[in-house]
Amino acid sequence: MGRKFFVGGNWKCNGTTEEVKKIVTMLNEAEVPSEDVVEVVVSPPYVFLPTVKSLLRPDFHVAAQNCWVKKGGAFTGEVSAEMLVNLGIPWVILGHSERRALLNESNEFVGDKVAYALSQGIKVIACVGETLEQREAGSTVAVVAEQTKAIAEKVSDWTNIVLAYEPVWAIGTGKVASPAQAQEVHFELRKWLKEKVSAEVAASTRIIYGGSVNGANCKELGGQPDVDGFLVGGASLKPEFVEIIKAAT
Ligand code: PGA
Repeated sequence: MGRKFFVGGNWKCNGTTEEVKKIVTMLNEAEVPSEDVVEVVVSPPYVFLPTVKSLLRPDFHVAAQNCWVKKGGAFTGEVSAEMLVNLGIPWVILGHSERRALLNESNEFVGDKVAYALSQGIKVIACVGETLEQREAGSTVAVVAEQTKAIAEKVSDWTNIVLAYEPVWAIGTGKVASPAQAQEVHFELRKWLKEKVSAEVAASTRIIYGGSVNGANCKELGGQPDVDGFLVGGASLKPEFVEIIKAAT
């Protein structure tokens, strides 16, 4: 089964209403391959989701950057999956390394969040990735396998999951993984899915790369056999995001 190229733009905690509208205008005017070839999903901060959703071209979609681990209620400051459904937000990013590191989100907590969002009908971009210390200690594959296992233990259907491999040392640092480094981990993740979940899930689940992807390095990264697209941070706020979308072809 073919895996459609996927390009996500993670805007993180950036932007004003004016800036967000400018980015949307830039995206709306871009000439990119059709939706049959590439799936494009941009993720503004919560407060801009309705604005972006209402202005964005219909062939691009939106994602939240997080959501609460269970049904909403007395959880001050949180946003529930039900609220995203109510707003018509089809995707959510979960387990981003910034949340794992800065907000102490554990593997188990991320697994629970993924399962709950899926149960509400929201598609998930689930992030995994090792720190520099873990890479240097030779534990990259063990770390991403453990993170993926915590998700696999909680979900039975992988149809609506995109797995994002984002080495922490490459995020926002300008230090991109080499195409060979990315391919190696993506290959190992797919092998893990094959052995621990199923051959079908391994063959059909998109594994995307994130970490200092830009207009200059996207083509070679995207050409790796197990790299099915990108999760882009810094460059997703700039016109070069369009070049990254075009790396699908
Ligand atoms: P970056 O961020 O492209 O700015 O490195 C990627 C991400 O955190 O998703």
